[in-house]
Amino acid sequence: MSILKLARPEIAALHHYEAAAQVDDTIRLNANESPRSIADDSFRRPLNRYPEVRPAGLQKALAARFGCRPEQLLVTRGSSEAIDLVIRSFCRAGVDSVLVTRPSFSMYWHYAAVQGAPLIEVPSLAERDFAIDVDDILTACDDNTRIIFVCSPNNPTGTTLPRAELERLLSERGERSAIVVDEAYVEFGNDESVTALLDRYDNLLVLRTLSKALGFAGARCGGVAGPQDVIRVLDAVQAPYALATPVVECVEDALRSEQLADAGGLVAEIVAERARVSEALQEFAFITKIWPSDANFVLVRTEQTAAIMAHCAEHKVLLRHFGGDLDDCIRITIGSPADNDALLRALGLFRDEHDG
Ligand code: PMP
Repeated sequence: MSILKLARPEIAALHHYEAAAQVDDTIRLNANESPRSIADDSFRRPLNRYPEVRPAGLQKALAARFGCRPEQLLVTRGSSEAIDLVIRSFCRAGVDSVLVTRPSFSMYWHYAAVQGAPLIEVPSLAERDFAIDVDDILTACDDNTRIIFVCSPNNPTGTTLPRAELERLLSERGERSAIVVDEAYVEFGNDESVTALLDRYDNLLVLRTLSKALGFAGARCGGVAGPQDVIRVLDAVQAPYALATPVVECVEDALRSEQLADAGGLVAEIVAERARVSEALQEFAFITKIWPSDANFVLVRTEQTAAIMAHCAEHKVLLRHFGGDLDDCIRITIGSPADNDALLRALGLFRDEHDG
């Protein structure tokens, strides 16, 4: 079985862009490049030359990190680009729907709107720590639901969908929908990546990013893993030369070096700080709920969102308020120990000013 038949017909039939040949030790008069660069060029691949159409070495290194085979992975400019590619490839405007749980990451709404894809929203269960009910998703699907986004751990609630429930969703939808599991925060939870399920489910796509656990948000690098035939189609849609030489080389170096060993330490520090901050927040009576989180943030409930946001901003600590379903909530990213101390100090001052 393959979900390739769910792709927009014109996308399934799309030919890859034919880039100019890139052959070492040749005189390259085939790509309208400049013979030299005006940049101070310290890269292994000179900057006057286009990057590889697809960065093969990086693809291999990232596949090893993400737990899939290189041909199952497309390297993208952050996982944001992967969200766009998947929606554009599978959804005919005005016809094929995208199902999202609510609340979740706003980029799904954004790119569905860009493509003109109808949206189906399934509320998660606030009273059960925002658990997702797979039966609610199955009931809400229509005949043209091409994509179901499962953000796990979910932004902004920090909730993980149990593996058995995900497998039930994958089995039940079969070749009727692509199930896209967004694992931007997977390293901060206790569960392994679901890339381990790729060989068992042909309708599974997994989004991964270097922006969170590896601290590479500025490099704009992530990927989408899935069945090889689907990855080939997404590859045809992605811009040629999407990953710039400086990005490719800096990420390749990071994945090779002792910085990678540091990544485990960074995640451990965030996880420890998440526990410390969550406990410290319990001291503040104006915070009435702190949800458990498998990610690098915690969501809290308070009656005083506007006042707290403003007070913290005055103390140069920025937090996130979303409104809507979460109007009485604030999302707090876990920073360095010093950042978190600054947050707790600011909240202590808020308490002092409002209680006494
Ligand atoms: N998915 C989720 C759930 C996110 O929260 C984010 C970033 N906030 C992304 C994807 C996109 O991250 P990036 O494009 O940096 O990989």
